[in-house]
Amino acid sequence: MDKESHRRSEKLGRVHLAGDSSDKTFTYIPKITQEDLDPDTDYVYICENNTIYGTKYKNLPPHEGKRLIADLSSCIFTEPLDVTQYDMIFAGAQKNLGPAGVTLVIIKKDLLDEQRDDIPSAMLDYKTYVDHDSMYNTPPTYGIYMVGLVCKWLEEQIGGLENMEKINQEKAGLLYDYLDNSKMFSNPVAVEDRSLVNIPFVTGDPELDKEFIAKAKEAGFENLKGHRTVGGMRASIYNAMPVEGVKALVDFMKAFEEEHV
Ligand SMILES: *Cc1c(COP(=O)(O)O)cnc(C)c1O
Repeated sequence: MDKESHRRSEKLGRVHLAGDSSDKTFTYIPKITQEDLDPDTDYVYICENNTIYGTKYKNLPPHEGKRLIADLSSCIFTEPLDVTQYDMIFAGAQKNLGPAGVTLVIIKKDLLDEQRDDIPSAMLDYKTYVDHDSMYNTPPTYGIYMVGLVCKWLEEQIGGLENMEKINQEKAGLLYDYLDNSKMFSNPVAVEDRSLVNIPFVTGDPELDKEFIAKAKEAGFENLKGHRTVGGMRASIYNAMPVEGVKALVDFMKAFEEEHV
């Protein structure tokens, strides 16, 4: 969690920062031990795949005797997932599941009885959604229907999450291999913490980055600009991006590099 999110969360309760990688602009996952946790804490929270910085928890942090709650928005269904390891998972649909406006929540039933009583009830209480089959209010039916189609596609055409992971590994491998061998582009993330789907990269020269983004856009590559808070470039190669798209990007980057030696 960054300092800003930390500050915002403190409005609702006490927050203890168990791990922090701001010393190297979040380019690695901090190694957290049980001793780093506040003994009084109720739950450990992680953002499992950091969409902006391109890092990913390959192993979940220790959380003995504590609940584990995770934001999986950018990595859900990009690989097999053991939901039993978490007390609660939430994920916005817009990256790997379907249209924006739907949020998937997977929660342990015994956690439903633990909500605090000082917040407005009903809409802010997951029990309400469970008790009403997620139809307490009018759900976004079109979005949910689309998520259903995406899940069918994952099962029937991709062949399940094991195959999705293989495809994503092939895609990420193509791009990381090129980045690690390029004399112009590089990825700043610690190798063992690299994301499968969000791959940031830079040339080291902000002007050259700008030129690359503009030329890439002309050539039909959209959304390669890095997040506004970090600059540079970022390839978000979610489930919907085919291997061919990543190959085309790598070819384009190679040609750009050759033009600039
Ligand atoms: C995309 C994303 C969100 C949701 O952000 P939006 O601004 O609503 O798109 C939340 N958490 C993570 C990890 C994300 O990748």
